[in-house]
Amino acid sequence: MAVCYNDIVTVREKIFHAIRTGENNMRTYINKKETKLAAVVCNCCKKELLVEKGILKEECIHVSHDFGYFSKRDGETHSFDLCEDCYDKLTEKFLIPAQVRAKSELL
Ligand SMILES: [Zn+2]
Repeated sequence: MAVCYNDIVTVREKIFHAIRTGENNMRTYINKKETKLAAVVCNCCKKELLVEKGILKEECIHVSHDFGYFSKRDGETHSFDLCEDCYDKLTEKFLIPAQVRAKSELL
């Protein structure tokens, strides 16, 4: 079944509204396999990141962590997305800078 562009825009607006009002998570997919994105919003500043045709077209730092036995959050998985500006603001507070390595091969 084909989906027209106007339908996608309407769905995206509904998703962003739901995210902004806290009714939905920060990352939403078009399909059940979770391979095509509908929307991504930065958890820190609520910036709507650019998603086109199910593909994220803007830098996004996605963090997902499974808390383990020695944590008070044992059994929980926490995840969030940050835009690049919020990543910069977060990491500049580090007393020890994040490790940076240059990639030898870029795809
Ligand atoms: Zn942000």
